[in-house]
Amino acid sequence: QPELAGDFATLMEWADRYRCMKVRANAETPADCRMAREFGAEGIGLCRTEHMFFEAGRISSVRQMILAQDEAGRRATLEKLLPEQRADFAAIFTVMAGLPVTIRLLDPPLHEFLPNRDAEFAALSDTIGIGVDTLKRRADELHEMNPMLGHRGCRLGITYPEIYEMQARAIFEAACDVAEESGDAPVPEVMIPLVATKKELAILKKLVDETAAKVFAEKCRTLDYLVGTMIELPRAALMAGEIAEEAKFFSFGTNDLTQTTLGVSRDDAARFLNPYVEKGIFLRDPFVSLDIEGVGQLVELAVQRGRATRADIKLGICGEHGGDPASITFCEKIGLDYVSPSPFRVPIARLAAAQAALEK
Ligand code: PEP
Ligand code: MG
Repeated sequence: QPELAGDFATLMEWADRYRCMKVRANAETPADCRMAREFGAEGIGLCRTEHMFFEAGRISSVRQMILAQDEAGRRATLEKLLPEQRADFAAIFTVMAGLPVTIRLLDPPLHEFLPNRDAEFAALSDTIGIGVDTLKRRADELHEMNPMLGHRGCRLGITYPEIYEMQARAIFEAACDVAEESGDAPVPEVMIPLVATKKELAILKKLVDETAAKVFAEKCRTLDYLVGTMIELPRAALMAGEIAEEAKFFSFGTNDLTQTTLGVSRDDAARFLNPYVEKGIFLRDPFVSLDIEGVGQLVELAVQRGRATRADIKLGICGEHGGDPASITFCEKIGLDYVSPSPFRVPIARLAAAQAALEK
């Protein structure tokens, strides 16, 4: 029973009186969004859209799309995915009832979407009527030695813009429909992942803006929305002043920023980080508690440079550190507007944000 009740609810109310930072949550299903709200989340700080495509029925469409030979092939599958994505976003906007929702466009390491077992190739071949050998050849072409540093995030949006176009269309169509039905007009925040350069963001922002304009013309209404970016690569943090020319908000993806700054794989670190902590090389696991001396400097620098370009830029953190009290204290110190952890960490984030504000 996630509801906060009794003395705990009172404690949370006291915390809310003192904290300055907002607390959002990372969620991509209506059930998780509901739970996040019951825990007191004031918005969704990260909706990871790639998670919407992993279930059995959809992954075969995504595989079909990624393995298609050309843009026409990809567009044919994306057309089938559009109504499903629209329904995904409409459900989230409905639950969040006008609270801010940051939707991140597709950011899969590509290997998670490629078939890799014979049975998967055979099933896909049966479904889409393309020979197993052709599918395997195409998968080989897309294979990467290091997918987490490869063709993911906005790079996928640059090479296959039709994917982001479909998602942007789904976001704006859903937002218009929900505004029409409920009166709580959503204000979508469309987030571009793994940006390293202003040019990447400029190209994709243009695509999102053009798609919004088309949808608003078709629906005969306009809605406010924001386009912004994750800051999760050291280059993006260093170039934040320039990137802010194209971004209305930054969300610090400190999972990837830790990985790329320390040169440590976020997926394999557990195997060797314990001795590092035991020997005092790191005081705590840097994927749990922000490495304030190193990664934190990049975050602080990006905050300063982003604000110098755009004084009212919205700033949040959506890496796992957004639910860690010591990291939250740091976020308060450098003046972030919100933290966004997983739903179960929302109460601790509310408390930690209040303590950090009092300390400050
Ligand atoms: C991050 O990198 O910190 C982030 C929030 O994105 P993801 O964990 O989905 O890569
Ligand atoms: Mg990331």
